Amino acid sequence: MPDKQQTLVLLKPDALQRDLLGEIIRRFEMKGLKIVGLKFIRLTDEMLDEHYSHLTSKSFFASLKQFMMQTPVVGMVLEGYDAVSEIRKVVGSTNPREADAGTIRADFSMNMPSNLIHASDSPESAAVEIKRFFKDGELFTYEKITDRYIFGEGV
Ligand code: UDP
Ligand code: MG
Repeated sequence: MPDKQQTLVLLKPDALQRDLLGEIIRRFEMKGLKIVGLKFIRLTDEMLDEHYSHLTSKSFFASLKQFMMQTPVVGMVLEGYDAVSEIRKVVGSTNPREADAGTIRADFSMNMPSNLIHASDSPESAAVEIKRFFKDGELFTYEKITDRYIFGEGV
């Protein structure tokens, strides 16, 4: 039985500026990932120091943070079988020019840091990142008619 997981996604300022929010959310919906949390977040310097703590020593750290604060970002929590790795597959590699065609980053972006999306990279970081950006009351459980096709067995 596959593992039903939740994962955190941020749609970055370039997605908002380039009117790609709907297209990207649509791709997650089409994949069969269930949206259980969705809101605007205005990222702060402190939030980004924590979120990108693995990158503090990099030369691009300051410009990455500046970029992430240009506009609000759209925060999403998505649920599905193996959601963490499935989303990373749909999103594509960090460098859009190395990402496989058909992935969101390859299809719609060319550069870093403006590669449209953040997605948690492991179930452990997903748990930490969901808590970082969402309160319990902001996550919703609900049934959809299509759940039996997405999650069911022997439909
Ligand atoms: N980034 C960058 N230059 C680089 C590597 C990363 O600007 O050489 C930015 C890019 O926006 C990336 C983010 O830093 O999405 C976080 O990097 P990470 O290695 O965690 O990649 P991701 O998990 O986003 O694919
Ligand atoms: Mg990362």
